[in-house]
Amino acid sequence: AGPDPDLPLVAERLQNIRHKLLVLSGKGGVGKSTFTSQLAFALATDESTEVGVVDIDICGPSLPKIMGSEREQVHGASGGWQPVYVQDNLALMSIGFMLPDDEAAVIWRGPKKSGMIKQFLKDVDWGTLDYLLFDTPPGTSDEHLAVVQLLRDSGVTGAIIVTTPQEVALQDVRKEIDFCRKAKVPIIGVVENMSGFVCPSCHGESLIFYPSTGGARALCDELGIPLLGSIPLDPRIGQACDQGTSFLDTCASSPAAQAYTKIIESI
Ligand code: ADP
Repeated sequence: AGPDPDLPLVAERLQNIRHKLLVLSGKGGVGKSTFTSQLAFALATDESTEVGVVDIDICGPSLPKIMGSEREQVHGASGGWQPVYVQDNLALMSIGFMLPDDEAAVIWRGPKKSGMIKQFLKDVDWGTLDYLLFDTPPGTSDEHLAVVQLLRDSGVTGAIIVTTPQEVALQDVRKEIDFCRKAKVPIIGVVENMSGFVCPSCHGESLIFYPSTGGARALCDELGIPLLGSIPLDPRIGQACDQGTSFLDTCASSPAAQAYTKIIESI
């Protein structure tokens, strides 16, 4: 098949979006959606920064819940579908907004998922954004290929790969890196999540994945990729996600918050 005739329409729709960032992970459960949502909140604390998030985890959309917009609906307007505004400067689009209830499963094959992702890019009125973050499913599958192909003309700024310190998760990071290289997506860097646990009472740090520590640093050094930051396990992050809020609202000076600040400086 030749190139998708809709690519110019996608590029036109996204022409006023400065950074298009893919958030990837080799494995599920490493905290990718948590990272995407909290990064979006953190970027949007600056009221002059316009942020969008597109949830392309079509079969497992979790962003509406963790960004506090679960029962919202998407409306059509003359300029296109309106994303859901989590805040004035933070827009979210997810298939979760189109499902009849929280328990409805999306059981779709590749072409249908790609069609939905195309609609998210071509038919949504994103307007002018500083950042559009793409939350992807784990691994490298139909959704990843679809988004890379759809962004061919508009260009992907780069990918951030989220992992935990465990060896099994790090092995899969290599696959994500290989995917990015083959798909010509620039790699911004790796984020190590759940890298330790800071006890709320004694403030001592436990390395819960011991002895798998330092692996992300070693992997990044070996492959010549930046390690953007290490985010500790912090129960306040899990709580904020359950409540659909930004964890920065409750702990702006925690080690986790400092890690986000450092990551933002490098993207
Ligand atoms: P993924 O998107 O990679 O499948 P999630 O973002 O759903 O993973 O995270 C898995 C679980 O771990 C969630 O319950 C989330 O609240 C929790 N979690 C992720 N990162 C952290 C963290 N740094 N501190 C505390 N809990 C976290």
